[in-house]
Amino acid sequence: MSGNMYYSTNHASPDVSLSEALLTGQAPDKGLYMPRSIPRIGPEEIADLSDKTYSEVARVILGKYVLDTFSEDELNRLCEDAYDYEVPLEHVAGRRYVMRLDRGPTASFKDFAARMMGRMIGSLMQLEERTLVILTATSGDTGSAIAHAFFRIPNIKVMVLFPPDEVSNRQRKQMTTLGDNVSTVAVDGKFDDCQALVKRAFADPDLKSVRLSSANSINIGRLLPQIVYYFYATSRLAGPGEPVVFSVPSGNFGDMMGCLLAQRMGLPLRKLIIATNANNEVPVFMTTGRYEKIVPSRVCISNAMNVGHPSNFARVIDLFGGHMDEQGIIHRKPDLDRMRKLLWATSVDDDRTREAIRSAWTRYRLLLEPHGAVGWRGLEDYIESEGEPKCTMISVETAHPAKFPEEIQSLLSITPDIPPSMDGLEDKSEEYLRMPVDYETFKKLILERYGR
Ligand SMILES: *Cc1c(COP(=O)(O)O)cnc(C)c1O
Repeated sequence: MSGNMYYSTNHASPDVSLSEALLTGQAPDKGLYMPRSIPRIGPEEIADLSDKTYSEVARVILGKYVLDTFSEDELNRLCEDAYDYEVPLEHVAGRRYVMRLDRGPTASFKDFAARMMGRMIGSLMQLEERTLVILTATSGDTGSAIAHAFFRIPNIKVMVLFPPDEVSNRQRKQMTTLGDNVSTVAVDGKFDDCQALVKRAFADPDLKSVRLSSANSINIGRLLPQIVYYFYATSRLAGPGEPVVFSVPSGNFGDMMGCLLAQRMGLPLRKLIIATNANNEVPVFMTTGRYEKIVPSRVCISNAMNVGHPSNFARVIDLFGGHMDEQGIIHRKPDLDRMRKLLWATSVDDDRTREAIRSAWTRYRLLLEPHGAVGWRGLEDYIESEGEPKCTMISVETAHPAKFPEEIQSLLSITPDIPPSMDGLEDKSEEYLRMPVDYETFKKLILERYGR
């Protein structure tokens, strides 16, 4: 099979294979990798997915991208291993549904992408018989999703740096109770200090003997798995060829980008609602055609979406024929009319987010946490503005309500049930190192642990 190639959205570095895109993450010209050709899936093939399990659907959809790199058997194994949890599709009212992507080991939708990327990279490293060290800095959710994604994957070691004062107890425990190939380091500083240490290590020639990778959120391996659930939900909730509307709470725009790729592949998408919190740079762009990042980003209760310059937006612009660089400067305008036909954007601030949590519960007994509530309110905004579409509408819930017990308790006076993945976390024993903000100490640690 001839291989699909991946180009950089900055168009200043050569095309690479899937394996190279997976192992390097970002292109040398600081662009993001995109597939040269987007495979197609027909209406009958989508309808055929309706009685398949989630991991089987993943095999079909991802197979269209990765079978030039992984064998069919290997892909089967990776999908079965990555997707061993439920993907509930909850009926709310009329033709409105909520898709809950919160049943993975860290109770956030990031598990879908991180687990698959971890397994694909692990599989490549096995072929190469080398060890890859994943270095990452986290202010909460990303670190635990990455740590869980690579936990016990052969030939991979993970080191997560975190600022102890900025990470909640639960978030910390999700990383520090794993052990095995996962090391966690509390850095006596802020998230930015952790980030700076990691960046310096990547650029340090003295660490050449250690193969470092960041496995960050822009890796193509994070994007492809986020195409799958849009097909999964559509095949189950809409008749063959029937259009659907999705509403996606968005921060770094990776999740909604998965939906756009699904549409290019053949998903009958009528409208994609992109709902942001008060970080409304993209809704403003959709209205005015002018892009201005928000610095510093605005602090909202949907904290995983506090992004003032979403890196994946460069991919969205690219898909509509434009060019935006990593700084957010638009060098070639995308086709805004075509974007507006498919996308509808809205911004939901904290007051409206809280109101949405309250009204979803009182009207429908629908339990949402802040991120999913932004998506749900986004769907309601759309219906109020454009009228109710006569088709299936699916709002995406990206985290488990039990991750936000204080907010839910104060708004609804109930305590959300803890999902099995978070059960018992309190009693597990933690292990982590402590370190001052000092690069030489950090470097010594890396060399001691992973150097040859
Ligand atoms: C990361 C995250 C988002 C935002 O997803 P993007 O792909 O960055 O747009 C939404 N909700 C939760 C819970 C997240 O962790």
